[in-house]
Amino acid sequence: MQYRIGIGHDTHQLQPGLKLIIGGLEIPHDQGCVAHSDGDVLLHALTDAILGALAWGDIGEWFPDTDPAYRGADSRVLLQQVLERVYGEGWKIGNVDCILFAQRPRLSPLKASIRESLAEILLVPALQVSVKAKTGERVGPIGREEAISAEVVALLQHDEHS
Ligand code: MG
Repeated sequence: MQYRIGIGHDTHQLQPGLKLIIGGLEIPHDQGCVAHSDGDVLLHALTDAILGALAWGDIGEWFPDTDPAYRGADSRVLLQQVLERVYGEGWKIGNVDCILFAQRPRLSPLKASIRESLAEILLVPALQVSVKAKTGERVGPIGREEAISAEVVALLQHDEHS
């Protein structure tokens, strides 16, 4: 078995009156992410972790935010396009481990739903997906509710004989 590991990070600014979408789920909140796409900080970090594992560049190269085609894009669809090629070349997800950083809304109660959503998008059992949530301890841009962030590590595996 051949293994590759990748890391992804993303940050989005929060502003009142925008939709907040995390891990493919719309989260009820009074602020949302400023973005060219739907601003799904977790799926962006996850996509970058998977691309990073294979040294296939980053989400900005695959889906430039200067391209009007990706305005308001559903980040699930962008990730699915990457996965089509990943799975098409015989790679499988070993596991992914995610950390969400948000002062508000409190994401702890949503970890299980977000985990299920990621597993569904990745087409893997939820056992292969971990979602953790941290606050910003009321300091810095996260703690002041100016931004939310995500970090993801992804392990990919490939059967050398296939
Ligand atoms: Mg992003």
